[in-house]
Amino acid sequence: IVPVITLDGPGGVGKGTLGRLLAHDLGWHLLDSGAIYRALALAAQRAGLDADSEAALSGLARTLPLGFRGAADETHVLLGGEVVDAEIRTPEISALTSRIAAIPAVRAALLQRQRDFRRAPGLVADGRDMGTVVFPDAPLKVFLTASAEERGKRRLNQLMEQGISASLATVVAEIAERDARDQQRSVAPLRPAPDAKILDTSEQSVSDTYRVLQSWVRS
Ligand code: C5P
Repeated sequence: IVPVITLDGPGGVGKGTLGRLLAHDLGWHLLDSGAIYRALALAAQRAGLDADSEAALSGLARTLPLGFRGAADETHVLLGGEVVDAEIRTPEISALTSRIAAIPAVRAALLQRQRDFRRAPGLVADGRDMGTVVFPDAPLKVFLTASAEERGKRRLNQLMEQGISASLATVVAEIAERDARDQQRSVAPLRPAPDAKILDTSEQSVSDTYRVLQSWVRS
């Protein structure tokens, strides 16, 4: 059976960075499940669907022409062959994504697609429900946390790198709103799996956090 390491937690906590590092060092595949939900939101927006169009959204989820290209440390997200890395990370799409991700039929439609990423020699999966729903049998489950303020700063830096400008207050407020929605939804709410190891990254650099993660992988 192919091993999986799950990295779950709220937005801006560093799952993406740590997941890429880990997948690269282990030579494993990487699943950025948030990118799948984000690409769906972008496709929905382009099709003129809003978060209330549940049946149309789950249909779109089943047929979404999604692709990933590149090695684990530099993946590009493709929608119908078009690279949409920047388009799926705008604040507007982030907000629409978490509304769409609260729809049970949408989550069900995306389940098998995510499980299909489990291929030899192994998979690092990052998201919200990787340990609780998608890969409940993963031998190592990690749940990352950090204060909303700290996560806001990290997310602001990411946005700036993409040439998107925003104020820290706005980004912190958007993250808090998205967290609340992710935690309160009826299906797959954001929470640690019972057997997850919790890692608070608020006061830690990426390399400190990564060292802890590596020690868990080795043990
Ligand atoms: O991780 P990222 O910020 O890219 O995720 C965007 C949104 O997608 C989250 O706020 C959440 O609503 C949704 N999501 C989810 N389940 C996952 C990954 C992401 O509901 N496994």
